[in-house]
Amino acid sequence: MSAPIGVVSAMRPELAAVLDAMPDEQREREAGRDFWVGHWRGLEVVAVLSRIGKVAAATTATVLIERFRVDRIVFTGVAGGLGADVRVGDVVVANSFVQHDMDASPLFPRHEVPLYGRARFETDAALSASLAAAATQVLAQTADTLGADAVAEFGLTAPRVHQGLIASGDRFVASQTESDALRLALPEVLAVEMEGAAVAQVCHDYGVQFAALRTISDRADDAAHVDFTRFIDRVASRYSVAVLDAWLS
Ligand code: SAH
Repeated sequence: MSAPIGVVSAMRPELAAVLDAMPDEQREREAGRDFWVGHWRGLEVVAVLSRIGKVAAATTATVLIERFRVDRIVFTGVAGGLGADVRVGDVVVANSFVQHDMDASPLFPRHEVPLYGRARFETDAALSASLAAAATQVLAQTADTLGADAVAEFGLTAPRVHQGLIASGDRFVASQTESDALRLALPEVLAVEMEGAAVAQVCHDYGVQFAALRTISDRADDAAHVDFTRFIDRVASRYSVAVLDAWLS
């Protein structure tokens, strides 16, 4: 028998949509969290809410690995777009993560995680490629997945899938000044969020495969807070479930 797959959602509506796709989930409490053990497309899945921020996400990943023995973790959530052509409604599949708020200089180079000798943690290449393929398939039929109303409301004319570097840190980036500073410090970064790099580091420690998908909810600028909840309900949760469903089948 193969090990279960860990499916981690950053936000509650996303988890709710995931649980709708699992016919038989059973709740197990651990570390003050609810882990949902069941099946999706016949595969054993453990679904959980990461909660927000790097420490919460690291704890969640550790419990998934230690207690539930998952051998792969897939993370879905939303993120702020930083790359010039990364727009609201696009999807970014991470090929690596960096903690933008890690800075032990001058003892270590900026962004390097002390004692790891590296700033970046790669995701699993094969898992990420198959997740990106599933995302491309789903985004080609945006109107079917979201409905024409949502497409019009959020102006999702030609959403794209990007693959590259995502930055994580314990800040909701919501000003032009801050997102400009991030782009200057990390020119290749496509998107910013608050959990992925922590999960990537835990998966690196345990040798567990990791892939992550983020729907761009905002541009990490002065308008970043606008209609966040509505976007998650109407767009991001639906993308996540459709992509995971395509990916698992
Ligand atoms: N208002 C929301 C705030 C959630 S925090 C609430 O009350 O629930 C933002 C979440 O979305 C985090 O999980 C983070 O990973 C992601 N995110 C989206 N846009 C972001 C941005 N501009 N900066 C940092 N994280 C962002």
